[in-house]
Amino acid sequence: MTIAIYPGSFDPFTNGHLDVARRASRLFDKLIIGVYATPEKKLMFSQDERVAMARAAVASLKNVEVRTYSGLTTEFAKESGVQVIVRGLRVSADFEFEFDLAMMTAKLSPSLEMVCLMASPQYQFLSSSLLKEVARLGGQVDDWVPPAVAKALKKKVRTK
Ligand code: ADP
Repeated sequence: MTIAIYPGSFDPFTNGHLDVARRASRLFDKLIIGVYATPEKKLMFSQDERVAMARAAVASLKNVEVRTYSGLTTEFAKESGVQVIVRGLRVSADFEFEFDLAMMTAKLSPSLEMVCLMASPQYQFLSSSLLKEVARLGGQVDDWVPPAVAKALKKKVRTK
C-alpha cells in the first residue's frame, strides 16, 4: 500500500490544490492532505479554518484524509507511514523552490520520494495569495475556489 502526503499551508484551499489532490488520489492508495500549522507566512485563516475548508473540498474523495501537523514534514511523513510527498508545480512560480525542497527532503529522509504534478493549464496562474488579494479588493473568486472557501473568504473580508 502506497501512502502519499500532499503538504501545504492551504491558506485557503483552492481549485488548483483540489486538482492536484484529485489526481494524486488516483495514483496512490491513500493520500493525506497535510495542513502545515505554522508556515512562515502571514495567514488569513486559522489552522482549524484551513483544515475545515480542505476537508469540505475533498469530502467526496474516499481515499483522502486531511490532517494537520507542525514540525518537519519528513517527520510527520515517517510517523504516518508515508512513502511519497506530492507537490504541485506551476510553470513560472514553483520550480526552483520545489527543487530545493526535493533536495532537502532527500537529505533529511532518503527513503521518501517527492513527486511533483504539473498544474493543470486552467490553474497555472492560481495562487492562494493572489486570491486573497482579489478577495480583499472585492473581486469575484467563486470560479477558483470550492464553495465553502468562497463563502469564508467573503466573510473574512467583510469582518476586516
Ligand atoms: P506552500 O506549501 O508553499 O505554503 P501552498 O499551500 O499554496 O504553498 O501550496 C501547496 C502545494 O500546492 C505547493 O506544492 C504548491 O506549489 C502547489 N500549488 C499551489 N497552487 C497550485 C495550483 N494552482 N496548481 C497546482 N499546484 C498548486
